[in-house]
Amino acid sequence: MRLDAQHAAVTISGRDKGQLGSDDIMVVDLDGRALDPQLRPSAETALHTQIYRRFAAAGAVLHTHSRAQSVASRLFAARGVVRFEGWELQKAIAGYSSHDSVLELPVFANSQDMAVLARAVDGWLDAGRPLHGYLIDGHGIYTWGKDMPEARRHLEALQFLLECELDLIRLRGTRP
Ligand SMILES: [Zn+2]
Repeated sequence: MRLDAQHAAVTISGRDKGQLGSDDIMVVDLDGRALDPQLRPSAETALHTQIYRRFAAAGAVLHTHSRAQSVASRLFAARGVVRFEGWELQKAIAGYSSHDSVLELPVFANSQDMAVLARAVDGWLDAGRPLHGYLIDGHGIYTWGKDMPEARRHLEALQFLLECELDLIRLRGTRP
């Protein structure tokens, strides 16, 4: 979560994400540097701080690795984007008021080098394309919101939409 214009709270590296308490959280600046040099932030901190830097209104960033996110990222990696059209739940994403819209969720190639991943995100944003979240191939999803409730709503909506797309592919027997 963003704390102020210069700082965010992130997870300490290596902690069990299913058992997080306040002792598992630390403060970094928006370049990912720890305020307490004894603590090492989560490996993907640079991707979180990138969102806070690029979106002044972002108050919370969430990253998860669900099965649907992972499978969809593989299926849509070649196309580079999942396009949601016609789903009522697209309205759960801030700024979308109708099913009659197109919501794009890009899929970026995975890398263990966060600078490479951050460049892919920058490339999308610098092209002026709307961005509310993204998949990383074979890995998971990032999404965010103005506060934690909105970030959670976006995560739940994108998870639901990805599950729906996967169901359609399965039922129709088509490939994306
Ligand atoms: Zn991850």
